[in-house]
Amino acid sequence: MTSRSAEIANNLAQVREEIARSATRANRNINEIELIVVTKTFPVSDVAILHEIGIRDFGENRDSEGAAKSLEVQGNWHFQGQIQSNKLKSITSWASYIHSLDSQEHLGKIATLCKERESDPLGIFIQVSLDGVQGRGGVAPQDLNFLADQVLATGGVRLMGLMAVAPLDIPADVAFAQLAVIHNAFSMQYPHASALSAGMSGDFESAITHGATHIRVGSSILGSRTSAL
Ligand SMILES: *Cc1c(COP(=O)(O)O)cnc(C)c1O
Repeated sequence: MTSRSAEIANNLAQVREEIARSATRANRNINEIELIVVTKTFPVSDVAILHEIGIRDFGENRDSEGAAKSLEVQGNWHFQGQIQSNKLKSITSWASYIHSLDSQEHLGKIATLCKERESDPLGIFIQVSLDGVQGRGGVAPQDLNFLADQVLATGGVRLMGLMAVAPLDIPADVAFAQLAVIHNAFSMQYPHASALSAGMSGDFESAITHGATHIRVGSSILGSRTSAL
């Protein structure tokens, strides 16, 4: 084992322990919490190490990076960055899931691209905005059901649930408590789309407390990134 593999394996073990502790504290079954390792900005050699130690779910924010890495390492690739319309053709060719749908226009394009995918539907999480600031991604809570109904009416895709990022200027616990209220209402309306993608390195414990089913963790496992994304 190289020192990099040992470092990653060690970090991963620690993150898994924290996930287990958080789940126990929140009275939740650890099996309902899925870890996606966010590999953005890290080399494909790191992704290969993660695969070797059993990780199969990888998250990327950029089409070009995800497209290149997914050619080399098999797994379930999750796109979680802001969507650019002209990248959707490529994104839907390598990603199994999109966590950041927030527009009807993008859904229209996805519908055209995925219409032959009935047997392998693209998983979609709708991103909800928790700070009401347009442009940082996510739809306003009151617009969720409208977009969800449209996803449900689209062939070749599968509505998974919701995704959110805690705003920088609000404590994660406050933001995720608000998210839990939104998520509970959404799950009642759409019982087959009750997934909740929330929580990153700095706040996944709080996200687990508030019902996250998919957490997206990068730097706690791979180290700090040199370039911001
Ligand atoms: C970068 C990123 C993550 C992972 O962040 P870390 O702090 O490295 O764990 C998760 N979700 C989204 C949307 C991201 O952009």
